[in-house]
Parts: sequence; C-alpha cells; structure tokens
Amino acid sequence: MSDVERQQLVEVALAAQQHAYAPYSRFAVGAALRTSSGAVFSGCNVENASYGLTICAERAATTAAVATGEREFSLLVIATDGGSPPCGACRQFLSEFASDLPILLVDSTEKDPIDTIDETNLKDLLPRQFAL
Ligand code: ZN
Repeated sequence: MSDVERQQLVEVALAAQQHAYAPYSRFAVGAALRTSSGAVFSGCNVENASYGLTICAERAATTAAVATGEREFSLLVIATDGGSPPCGACRQFLSEFASDLPILLVDSTEKDPIDTIDETNLKDLLPRQFAL
C-alpha cells in the first residue's frame, strides 16, 4: 500500500469520526477498513440511550463491508482523540475475519495525525484469540 493510500485511509477514518453519534460518552470514533480487493468501508460509533445497543466504529465498518460480500481485510485505521486501540469486543469481532489484521491508531488531536500513527496488529492486541 502506498503512502497516498495510507493517507487516504486516515482521512476516511477522521471524516467518519466527525459523524460519530456519541452524546453520552462524548468519545467520537471513526474507522476505515480496507479490504483485500482495495475497497474501503467507514464506520463511526453510534450510541443509544440504552447503552448496550451502542455499536462501535470498528464493528460498523466491518458489518458494512460484510454486507457487500467483503470478508478479507488488509488494514484498519481507527481515529480517536488520543489514539485509542479498539475495545475488547471489537478485537474479538475483527478476529473472526482477520486474526492478524494490521491496525493504525490515529490521534485526531494531533496537528498532523499521519506523523504520529501508532501501528499495531490484532494478534498483538488479542493474543490467543477465541475461535471454534
Ligand atoms: Zn469496540
């Protein structure tokens, strides 16, 4: 993947973060998921007054991709204030499709977020993954 493609994915994640519906936590999250075919799907967190119904940006992007028949993923970019990694539920959810998915954590509060990306991998974030 080129630097330009990487930059574009970061921009997609940052744009999705702007659309987050997070009136309760006020913690906006944006995600950009690139498939092996090169398609890109975005997601944001969507909270609900019944907190348990909230969906994370990472799972929103994943379900959007799967709904179009995409199940092989090559990169996930997550944008948050502070550059947080995905929650435990999202780690397990993503492991269903890509156990060693590369993940870029973007801190949207940085002046130039692309320069401070934290690169990680789902296998490092979720070792000994559950699978049937
Ligand atoms: Zn999550």
